[in-house]
Amino acid sequence: MRILITGAAGFLGSHLSDRLLAEGHQVVGMDNFVTGKRENLAHLSDNDNFSFIRHDVSNYIFVPGKLDAVMHFASPASPNANSPIGYPNLPIQTMKAGALGTHHSLGVALANQARFMLASTSEIYGDPLEHPQTESYWGNVDPIGERSVYDEAKRFAEALTVAYHRFHNVNTCIVRIFNTYGPRMHIDDGRAVANFIQQALRGEPLTVYGDGLQTRSFCYVDDLIDGIYRLLMSDEHYPVNIGNPAEITIKEFAEEIDKLVGNEAGLVFEERQRGSGDPQRRQPDISRAKEVLDDWGPNVSLQDGLAKTIEYFKQELGT
Ligand code: NAD
Ligand code: UDP
Repeated sequence: MRILITGAAGFLGSHLSDRLLAEGHQVVGMDNFVTGKRENLAHLSDNDNFSFIRHDVSNYIFVPGKLDAVMHFASPASPNANSPIGYPNLPIQTMKAGALGTHHSLGVALANQARFMLASTSEIYGDPLEHPQTESYWGNVDPIGERSVYDEAKRFAEALTVAYHRFHNVNTCIVRIFNTYGPRMHIDDGRAVANFIQQALRGEPLTVYGDGLQTRSFCYVDDLIDGIYRLLMSDEHYPVNIGNPAEITIKEFAEEIDKLVGNEAGLVFEERQRGSGDPQRRQPDISRAKEVLDDWGPNVSLQDGLAKTIEYFKQELGT
């Protein structure tokens, strides 16, 4: 297949490119580098099956030649207001990537009669009132809260994707991605994984926001990409959660990183920065993924995944 990936220079887009190329497909990467980086794709520069177009997906997309699939991953993705690449600091770009970018990507899929995948997010569930989150849960989202530029853009993107399926018969699918980590993630995105690993490597206390009893479920990138690949190849048209259901409190997560790095500086508790916009609990129900994706499930333990991620951070920081 010849596959367009928008957001190819990002954390997930670059891993996805690697997997598709390894499976024998051709990849056309597209990115404007607003939050991604060239280095994530540098290892593909000599690969004849990979080509790259620098482009902002908020503008009309033109890709010469036939495409068999379009995977729309372009969007800022970090909720951290203290990071320059956090979507609270890129609010209009984030809404445009989710709204206009999805419209243009769907248009490319329609013109090519191609399979289409939208990278959606667990954020569409907001601060969930149902736990764990199944795909049938409608969510609890503040339409004007700090995260709304991302959450509502993705909710619009899902609605548009389903509209193109129902009215134009586009062969769509939607992956609802839960927190994912691994090599090539942004080291300065201000998120828990990046902050904690850097603080631990510097021998500093880890900054836990609030009491640390809020939970997340962290998925190693290889597991996520495997689920995404299976979804692309499936006949599924509607949203599927992909993530690791192993739920952990942020406090326990920080302690695990301290243990793996050998940091004895412990934890420091700071004021919860994102108020009510910071979901209290998040855990995917992956029954649907198991059912429609040939018994897919995560295989990499938190300890193994974190060990690989810590190695990546050491390389990036030159420590
Ligand atoms: P990322 O920031 O590393 O990658 C996003 C890429 O999209 C970047 O390379 C960026 O430059 C590019 N981009 C953004 N706006 C663009 C535009 N207008 N035109 C062209 N390129 C643009 O983030 P990521 O973690 O790899 O996320 C990829 C996708 O997965 C996003 O859609 C995100 O919402 C979704 N997602 C990620 C996670 C996660 O845990 N990483 C969780 C849920 C959903
Ligand atoms: N968090 C924290 N310390 C940090 C960064 C994040 O305690 O230095 C908390 C944050 O408040 C949230 C959780 O860790 O409850 C996960 O945050 P992250 O930014 O990784 O992403 P989110 O899951 O909120 O999108």
